[in-house]
Amino acid sequence: MTRFLWTANVLVGFSFFVSQLSFAAIDDSGLTGLVEPLRMSISSTLSPSVIEKTPLKANDLTVRPLIRKGGDVAELLHLSFISRTTCKNKSIGEEVLFQAELSNDFINVKKNGSYLVEFTGTCGSHHDLIFDSESPEGQAVMIWEVGHRAVSKFSMIDRLEFWGGPLHIEWPSGGDYYSWGTVHLTRGDHWDVVGHEMGHAIYDRANIGTFGGGQHFIDRCYTNSLALSEGWASFFSAWVSLELEDSNAQFEFMVPRRAPLGVEHVPDDVCEGPTNEWRVYTFLWDVIDHNDDGEVSQMEFQAYWDVVYNQNVRSIRQQMRLLVQSGESASGLDHIWRHNFKTTPD
Ligand SMILES: [Zn+2]
Repeated sequence: MTRFLWTANVLVGFSFFVSQLSFAAIDDSGLTGLVEPLRMSISSTLSPSVIEKTPLKANDLTVRPLIRKGGDVAELLHLSFISRTTCKNKSIGEEVLFQAELSNDFINVKKNGSYLVEFTGTCGSHHDLIFDSESPEGQAVMIWEVGHRAVSKFSMIDRLEFWGGPLHIEWPSGGDYYSWGTVHLTRGDHWDVVGHEMGHAIYDRANIGTFGGGQHFIDRCYTNSLALSEGWASFFSAWVSLELEDSNAQFEFMVPRRAPLGVEHVPDDVCEGPTNEWRVYTFLWDVIDHNDDGEVSQMEFQAYWDVVYNQNVRSIRQQMRLLVQSGESASGLDHIWRHNFKTTPD
């Protein structure tokens, strides 16, 4: 905590000097509440929690990585394993070592070096690799998954170039924050917080806007910059992990005292106006979502991104003006503004 305050002071003192650098110190302690970080020392080499093997008809070897949370199982789409040999050179029942390093040109999940996930496969079998979401191996692969959801989304709209080098993610860390270009995470299974902290990094790299300093509370109002940088980070997390068509889109772990946080709806007791971060992200979500909750905008994320990229705005109001200038319907945006902030845009 002391370190955040210290860096925040330095940021104020040298803001001119550091304005060209990738830099920010964010205190998200209110976002995650009292999270119990993993206290055990975690090996850099991890293995699936459980491997379920089923025989195949041929001497083949197939793999499907899965994340298991409670009774639900979902496929991990971005974890790919490589091996030095294949079953073509082996007979049924022989073993092959597979490895997936959680580090590439885009994402690097690390503590004391990058993590490596490995397992031994058997020729002639299909392998369901099950990662329990709360286990160390489950948390590490979820960070990787959320990170690559973002990479894949930018890639699909042909907007990945800004990404630059690998985004370093330190886990497990003593807090959830973004500082000096590195994302720090307590829990990898808290997908919405992972997306939020990554959102700060993307906001920084793409020069979306200024960073506000200090502690923040999702239901209060503070400065334009703080509400924008925090709201934008949550908006990014929603874009990465939620469906634009979902009428009940919500976060799961963010701000435990108010969880689950709605992405479409803000409760009435939340501070009104554009300096509240909750309203900033529901506003932005309404600009791009495909669920009609009384608003009609369906701007494609790609079009939104092209307007806000590299504009370094200081407030959501300024970003709204850019959207209007780009040709988006002023009356439509005005309606979304009133709907979310309960105030008028000017
Ligand atoms: Zn934040």
